[in-house]
Amino acid sequence: MTGPDRRHDMGTNPDDPLLSIEELRTHIRTQGETVRAVDGVSFDVASGETVCLVGESGSGKSVTCESLTGIVPRPPAEIVRGSISFDGLPLADLPESDLCQIRGDRIAHVFQNPQSALDPVYTVGDQVVEAIKLHRDVGSDVARERAIDHLRRVGIPRAEERVDDYPHKFSGGMRQRVAIAIALAPDPDLLIADEPTTAVDVTVQAQLIELLRDLTGSGLSILLVTHDLRVVASLADRVLVMYGGTIVERGPVEELFDNPAHPYTRALFESYDGIAREERSVRGEIPSDGCRFRRECPYSIEACAGDGQPEFYPIGGRQSHRASCVYYAPERDPTPIVEDGRGNSLAEIETETRGSDDD
Ligand code: ADP
Ligand code: MG
Repeated sequence: MTGPDRRHDMGTNPDDPLLSIEELRTHIRTQGETVRAVDGVSFDVASGETVCLVGESGSGKSVTCESLTGIVPRPPAEIVRGSISFDGLPLADLPESDLCQIRGDRIAHVFQNPQSALDPVYTVGDQVVEAIKLHRDVGSDVARERAIDHLRRVGIPRAEERVDDYPHKFSGGMRQRVAIAIALAPDPDLLIADEPTTAVDVTVQAQLIELLRDLTGSGLSILLVTHDLRVVASLADRVLVMYGGTIVERGPVEELFDNPAHPYTRALFESYDGIAREERSVRGEIPSDGCRFRRECPYSIEACAGDGQPEFYPIGGRQSHRASCVYYAPERDPTPIVEDGRGNSLAEIETETRGSDDD
């Protein structure tokens, strides 16, 4: 049975988000030290929606994604709090055997390095077939035909021939396409893609973005992690900006790009260099309460410290665009932040992503 029918069977309201995460906290304990890798993260992903998680290296994007289906290594990680509801299923409370079934079948992961998804000793066709047969009750011939269709769908030229090739016969970009084909073979409802375009060169990156954009039109929900704002600009419906294990700003992509509000988002956008794709790295000790960015923030005031992170205040009168920054509280004046120039306007960020094939 495919996604929508199953959802109907679950008796859930089709208007309910497909994925809903509340107050997720995943802490990592190493040698007496606890890293609050994810520290109170809440967000939804609706059916057919593409949500992008952005933020510099170490901000907790991967641990968030890996917590959802329980693939984060436990220990050292521990999901200490939070609820994860996927199509009405409480993922954080399910036994590993149930989670294992949902992984792949209904929620698929794609990682930065396609090697992790590919076995060098089997042909790509065998691997797509296996992914299909593991989750769908079909015979070998049907599975092979479907495998070829899947390879075609992700843009593998001459798929009917290439199906019998081994992974080493494919270029890096093509390997990532095959990894995406394997992920999509069981027809999942949600694709979690963690930096899928980071390990490949710029041309291949553009092609993968194009492929992901095609997929977004197919009703698939996508949670996409990237630190590349070009990728965000060209694919996201909504954006979540993460810093220090917390979401600091969230909103529809146009609103957030037109009017980035949180000082961290503005710093991220300012430091963006479309060519180098350099990641900012989290530096020094990050506070474990209040605004996590306050030690780096040029506007930091006393109110930025405190128990939890600052409330999410609406930006520009829009309820859908919010920033967790005390300057946007109704009683305060955000002028100092707003008037400080952003060196790199996001309107200028290139969203041109088309390229030629790399096969
Ligand atoms: P991102 O994906 O945003 O770059 P991660 O989610 O990988 O960041 O990491 C969040 C934080 O958790 C970082 O401080 C990182 O060092 C820490 N972390 C992640 N995995 C481990 C691990 N296996 N052991 C120790 N610390 C980890
Ligand atoms: Mg990561």
